[in-house]
Amino acid sequence: MKNGLQQLFDNLSKSGGVLRRHEPLSRWTSWRVGGPADLFYQPENAEQLLSALKQAVRCGQPWTVIGAGSNLLVRDGGIRGLVIQTRRLDGLQIGADGHVVAECGLWLPLLVRRCVASGLAGLEELAGIPGTVGGALVTNAGAHGRSIGDCLRQVDLFNAGRCETWSAAEVGCVYRGSNIGPGQLVLRVALQLQQGERTQLQNRVDALLTARRRSQAVGGANAGSVFKNPPGEAAWKLIDAAGLRGLAVGPAQVSPRHANFIVNRGGAGAGQILELIGLVREKVRTCCGVELETEVKVVGEDNPDRPAEE
Ligand SMILES: Cc1cc2nc3c(=O)[nH]c(=O)nc-3n(C[C@H](O)[C@H](O)[C@H](O)COP(=O)(O)OP(=O)(O)OC[C@H]3O[C@@H](n4cnc5c(N)ncnc54)[C@H](O)[C@@H]3O)c2cc1C
Repeated sequence: MKNGLQQLFDNLSKSGGVLRRHEPLSRWTSWRVGGPADLFYQPENAEQLLSALKQAVRCGQPWTVIGAGSNLLVRDGGIRGLVIQTRRLDGLQIGADGHVVAECGLWLPLLVRRCVASGLAGLEELAGIPGTVGGALVTNAGAHGRSIGDCLRQVDLFNAGRCETWSAAEVGCVYRGSNIGPGQLVLRVALQLQQGERTQLQNRVDALLTARRRSQAVGGANAGSVFKNPPGEAAWKLIDAAGLRGLAVGPAQVSPRHANFIVNRGGAGAGQILELIGLVREKVRTCCGVELETEVKVVGEDNPDRPAEE
């Protein structure tokens, strides 16, 4: 009798798409850390994706979806069951009326570029945010006071075993979050953009990209801002006030250039990054009386063979 994981592997190997066993997730996260996925699957289209989700449920296997892994800390023990990576689902339709529909795996900077080239305004402030459209929606990615949720019309998603369409109100985007969580998978996102003047939009994007390159040149693998800004505060200022720039646990270091970034200077484990996150939270609590909340999502299992202080 085959176990559920083997059964799922056999079924998915006949389905098309890319399938791997024991895939190191450090290859698929911007921090370059993370243990293996039991099964790692990149579907080519929405049909394969939906079929994989249903088969995982049928085989009694948990599933996890990842995009570009740029807001993700995968623990060193990896992720059990099926990990679905969406980057091949990158369809895009741009209507002349500003109605835009993007598949979940589309690269967000490409979406911004294509909309600006079509003279559509609304996404410029998101220029240069690395990630997929699905990941951006779940985290309500944004910058300079704008976020993807500001342009949202509706979302098609997989929820509790079936496909549903949620309105912007149901998605409920808030600062770096939404009502979409584990067990739900964004398939495609419909946005409403405004008509704009192409050269002006492009100039704005160019200026933002230049500023981003300057402020985020931290010289190491990272996942962007580690902590959310507490109401009325900037996380980086609190970390600075606590004197934590440069604090390190092994190769994991609070960036000397950007206090809300943690860089992997080479070979860090997730356990070391988590330990550093814990230290920063503790010291900011003691120094400033503020509880920092992580912006990055932490998933997977610890690896008892790779303790934090190895
Ligand atoms: C250098 C750098 C700069 C950054 N700057 C910014 C910034 O200015 N503003 C900002 O908001 N963020 C920023 N980020 C963080 C990151 O780019 C965004 O959060 C991005 O939107 C994450 O998308 P992703 O595809 O990488 O998601 P992932 O990191 O792969 O996943 C994030 C979460 O979304 C879930 N998820 C992914 N895809 C789906 C899907 N299709 N359906 C359901 N759930 C899904 C995952 O399970 C996970 O919980 C930065 C990161 C880096 C490395």
